[in-house]
Amino acid sequence: MDLEYGPAYRAYRETVREFLKGWPLEGAESALSQIEQESLFRRRGIEAGFVYRNMPREYGGAGQEPDALKDQIVLEEFHRANAPGDLRSQGAGLLAPTLLEFGTEAQKQRFIPAALSGEEAWCQGYSEPGSGSDLASLKCQGRAEGDSFVLTGQKIWTSNANAADWMFGLFRTEPEKPKHAGISYLLVDMRSEGIDVRPLKTLTGGIEFNEVFFDEVRVPMENLVGARGQGWGVSRATLIHERNLIGSSSMLRDMFSDLVELAQRTRRGECPAIEDAGVRRKLAEIEGYVCTQEASNMMQFTAELKGDVSRTMRPMMMNKLYSTDTTQRIMECAYDLLGGEGLLGPTEADIRDWMRNTTSTGWVEAYLFSLGPAIAGGASNIQLNIIGERGYGLPRDLRLPAG
Ligand SMILES: Cc1cc2nc3c(=O)[nH]c(=O)nc-3n(C[C@H](O)[C@H](O)[C@H](O)COP(=O)(O)OP(=O)(O)OC[C@H]3O[C@@H](n4cnc5c(N)ncnc54)[C@H](O)[C@@H]3O)c2cc1C
Repeated sequence: MDLEYGPAYRAYRETVREFLKGWPLEGAESALSQIEQESLFRRRGIEAGFVYRNMPREYGGAGQEPDALKDQIVLEEFHRANAPGDLRSQGAGLLAPTLLEFGTEAQKQRFIPAALSGEEAWCQGYSEPGSGSDLASLKCQGRAEGDSFVLTGQKIWTSNANAADWMFGLFRTEPEKPKHAGISYLLVDMRSEGIDVRPLKTLTGGIEFNEVFFDEVRVPMENLVGARGQGWGVSRATLIHERNLIGSSSMLRDMFSDLVELAQRTRRGECPAIEDAGVRRKLAEIEGYVCTQEASNMMQFTAELKGDVSRTMRPMMMNKLYSTDTTQRIMECAYDLLGGEGLLGPTEADIRDWMRNTTSTGWVEAYLFSLGPAIAGGASNIQLNIIGERGYGLPRDLRLPAG
């Protein structure tokens, strides 16, 4: 199998690289705050057709023809240049494409542009205590009253809720219906009266998650996405975007190169660790997983380019699993190589920039962080069940919720 990009795509990569010579900003623009610089460059990226490629112009995107390989090239090059591309946040990455599919025209115009620009931050209110993998068992209530839904109950593990302006979430609006049928997908203003956000500290030392409590919180009915009681279908669309986002954004090849570099500069006794036969075997094994992920990505892209939707699903399902699994293998190997240095805690700078931070403490941070994505957006065991049952038609695991 030839995993090289063809000449047209290599030329496209050059145009992206040319554009990226404009980052970091220089001259008077470099005096702007970091956030201002990022948003200015992102706007230029939209104008040039690289950022939010597939999002229509009228909602703040670049309005380009869908092309999975171009998306990937842009992702890789922006990552390497450490430049601000698509905001891979809950608002821009998950909600905006969901609204594009299911939202009313008013919802698209009101919410998508502000989510893409980052002007409004979003969080995702799905999980509840006791309802994670079995999400459809959720209990948080949305009682219909006049022209509003009134919310009561609790969400948990809500990333970013402490900084979010809005939540897209699932609420039980028809308790008398079967569990998948009685759920609605609502957009909730986080400043509404009756919302209490309580941060949860994680093992990285940061506050990534929160508990969110609702006490008679009113949400106007116009903030319902899709039909009432049909929120499960809408949430599936968001989950596909979430898994795709996790699966595509891990940059395994770059992480692997950083790992090899770590093996070159750390020592086993008198020699660089990379000269140790056991380390080399481990690296070769991990590179095999990296190649598998790349091949699976290419299968997905090929199917997308051919418009063969039925063939995109299986590699898409596998990508999230491969990428989180292989990230953990890379981090575990790095942790091993670090030896005693692995006992150092991450610094503030590591926590800010863990993706390409290759200091010892940066690796520790990345190792701790890598545990989360294997659970977020559906735990790995659940992904295995889904791949087996829906990808390969194996008999159903009776404990797995339908959907
Ligand atoms: C980094 C991170 C960010 C998150 N952000 C958000 C967020 O923003 N919003 C939100 O709503 N939620 C969020 N979550 C929560 C996440 O969606 C849930 O943690 C996840 O769905 C698992 O649910 P649970 O924690 O209740 O575990 P459980 O469902 O209790 O699962 C516990 C273990 O049992 C296994 N298991 C359960 N059922 C089965 C089965 N049928 N077959 C085989 N194994 C099974 C699971 O794989 C897992 O290993 C986040 C989680 C993480 C780690």
